[in-house]
Amino acid sequence: MGGSIGVVGGGQLAWMLAAAAREQGVELHVQTPELSDPAARLATSVVRAALGDVTATRSLAQRTSAISFENEWLDLDSLAPLEQEGVVFIPRLDSLADLVCKRRQRQLLERLRLPSPRWFPLEQTLTPPAPAPTEQEDPALAGASDGACEAAEPALPLSPRLPAGFDFPLMAKAVRGGYDGRGTRVIRSQAELEALIEAVDPSLWLLEEFVTFEQELALVACRDHFGAVQCYPLVETHQHDQVCDWVLAPAAASQAVEARARNVAVSLLAALDYVGVLSIEFFYGPSGLLINELAPRTHNSGHYTIEACRTSQFAQQVRIVSGEPLGDTSTTLRGALMVNLLGFETSTAAYARQRQALEALADVHLHWYGKRLARPGRKLGHLTVELKASGAAERVREASLRLAEVRAIWPLPAARTP
Ligand code: ADP
Repeated sequence: MGGSIGVVGGGQLAWMLAAAAREQGVELHVQTPELSDPAARLATSVVRAALGDVTATRSLAQRTSAISFENEWLDLDSLAPLEQEGVVFIPRLDSLADLVCKRRQRQLLERLRLPSPRWFPLEQTLTPPAPAPTEQEDPALAGASDGACEAAEPALPLSPRLPAGFDFPLMAKAVRGGYDGRGTRVIRSQAELEALIEAVDPSLWLLEEFVTFEQELALVACRDHFGAVQCYPLVETHQHDQVCDWVLAPAAASQAVEARARNVAVSLLAALDYVGVLSIEFFYGPSGLLINELAPRTHNSGHYTIEACRTSQFAQQVRIVSGEPLGDTSTTLRGALMVNLLGFETSTAAYARQRQALEALADVHLHWYGKRLARPGRKLGHLTVELKASGAAERVREASLRLAEVRAIWPLPAARTP
């Protein structure tokens, strides 16, 4: 295919993009702070700089025809001058404007009337209740005072109140920068709400209803420069301590649910005139399909596509950023189970024995990110297990047996304390 593209970011997503670029004969240059970051090993070149360093992004642009991002927490105002100078970002910055913060995402979904959990800004809990009518406004109160000049009561600090229609438990979310549950907290009581307000800047958090779901589902979709849209199969995701633990592809979901998810994806991509890969996380339960989060990039729920699809999500993003039409998203396997390898010890050396044992399992493809630091809960790698079952129920059984094999070798990390 040829060409030369850039990625701001050097973590595992950029590393898998770099691997896909190599296979397609595309140069991939990254901007990342450390030469030890996963993608630096495979990239054609590295601009060593913080992700928000716009001067560095300008030099990345000099080596490439177009740039994409590994992470959505972007400062679009500082990138805008580059776009005006002719730097090509994919997705374009105006397509990203509604996606770079969870509050903007919630507002976008409301505007498009796409279903998502009910929410309100945390600040709203501090809004004083509407003032009681004054004497002038309410004749019933006139004359109630003897007209003496009473000293006004000193204003008491308000205790936060939930807007009408909301009750505990609620889910609190930082509007920017959160990932893997860092930046989300369950708020179960008034005391926890008050503690949250003490601990954070309320203008940078939101609260949403706590959703009772039966399944978490995810869909990776893509749109090219020509407006063509494709979706990968709907998958089920499972979280441990709010971090993705495993993904089953395809999900055991009805055709109606899958069709609904695809409709949501097509509506979003078209409304944003979006070019690139975009991922949607859903809750599915008594309230139907609700959108939890949008990620304008490749996603953990799509890692299985490396083994299971004709064009992986990474190869797809490389194609789109290079200006090529979409590749074929169809599957080559009946099913796949992706398991994240979350750190459970602090030393990376400690994992060699487990990695060997995992590699010896049948039909397993191991991806080790080569991170220098391994704290508990950090994503250190993932593996994809090829599944053979053809029916949904059988596939779920097969996946749970294969997951048990992996767990016997690679335990889950202890849960974080809240
Ligand atoms: P992050 O951006 O850190 O991945 P998410 O918004 O995806 O945060 O939340 C992480 C996990 O927390 C979700 O996968 C889900 O399991 C749980 N979660 C998030 N929001 C809610 C909610 N409103 N109700 C119930 N659980 C939720």
